[in-house]
Amino acid sequence: MNVRLATQVLSSSVSKALTFCQTIDKEFDKSSATAEFCLKINNAFDILNCRTKFSKNPYNQALSLNTFDKYEHFINEFETYIYGLQLTDGCTVVNSLRKTGFIGLVWGLKNLLICFNTLRQNYNMEYVLSYKMSQDHLETFFSAMRSRGGYNNNPSAKEFKTSYKKLLVHHHVSGSQYGNCLPESMFTTKQNIIPDSIIQDTDTDSIDSEQDFGFQNDHDYFHTHFNVSAFVENITEYISGFIAKKALKQINCDVCKGYLVDNKTNNILINIKDRNNALTKPSKDVFYLCSVSEKWIRCKQVKDMYKNNFINKLYLQIKNDVYRSVFNTSTMDTHISGQTSFTNHKEQLISIIINTYITLRLRSIAKQTENSKISIRKKFTKLITFRNE
Ligand SMILES: [Zn+2]
Repeated sequence: MNVRLATQVLSSSVSKALTFCQTIDKEFDKSSATAEFCLKINNAFDILNCRTKFSKNPYNQALSLNTFDKYEHFINEFETYIYGLQLTDGCTVVNSLRKTGFIGLVWGLKNLLICFNTLRQNYNMEYVLSYKMSQDHLETFFSAMRSRGGYNNNPSAKEFKTSYKKLLVHHHVSGSQYGNCLPESMFTTKQNIIPDSIIQDTDTDSIDSEQDFGFQNDHDYFHTHFNVSAFVENITEYISGFIAKKALKQINCDVCKGYLVDNKTNNILINIKDRNNALTKPSKDVFYLCSVSEKWIRCKQVKDMYKNNFINKLYLQIKNDVYRSVFNTSTMDTHISGQTSFTNHKEQLISIIINTYITLRLRSIAKQTENSKISIRKKFTKLITFRNE
């Protein structure tokens, strides 16, 4: 059992992904019930896991007088929904052998409301953060205990005492990444995806670039007919919105900023994922740059990615492919007319977008490759503990 994986599956992202797939693929025709189930469980988890008063997520705000009615309504609906769920043989889930989790979730939610009322009446509490009542703190603590003494799962009393003392002195409790829960601080660490120096790195003209252009003009069989599916197209457009947002932060020229965003989008995925109209919508040019980059990355094999200057070469190939087709407006031409030819704003804009996209995708590929390796300890740890060997 791993709660982390369960919450990843029963999440609003999965629900939205199913809704999205339903719109473009007939195979997902009957997926709406699953999507609804994922979303409902996700909202229930959110209510029981809120950590802040000011969350933007509608069901992840602290339980207070403002949210009480909304949550109570949801919980009543949720109860009816869960008690109405049926297995394929017609037996309801709450009467089957797997009832514990479902009834437990409903009662956890109901108890939270009762708990809030009691706390408010007796102790005048304004709001309740349900995460603080979960067992995560204890689990993280034991996870940290287990990681002591060379990841010792079965410490003796003396070893436990020593580890506990060490933790008390260092008071740095950080759990294992494979545990059921993550410590609170891990959610707030911001990932910085793009190193600032990337523009400098790729702008240096190397000898390889000239070779590459020569190679381009030669016969090039493998990339000519490379089409991606509608799923990938949509997802790339969604990611290119993120790229546009990143680029907006790096650029200080207002004219160029206007070329990144275009609020008129009919991308299905963006519309499904967009909560409170907060997502950045990419312009056609940004989307085109990203989709060409995606196609080029898909042409490459993982083993090629370890070669020297891979990113530089890839960048030049993509740029060579797209340069004449993007930002071709008279406004842009007048804007760059006074600027030097190799460092003008059009050039820089293209380079920022391509580089940001490449970095993002390569990191994700690297992460996937890394995750596919399972360490021996991870594979055998439960086996050894449970067989007392
Ligand atoms: Zn500019």
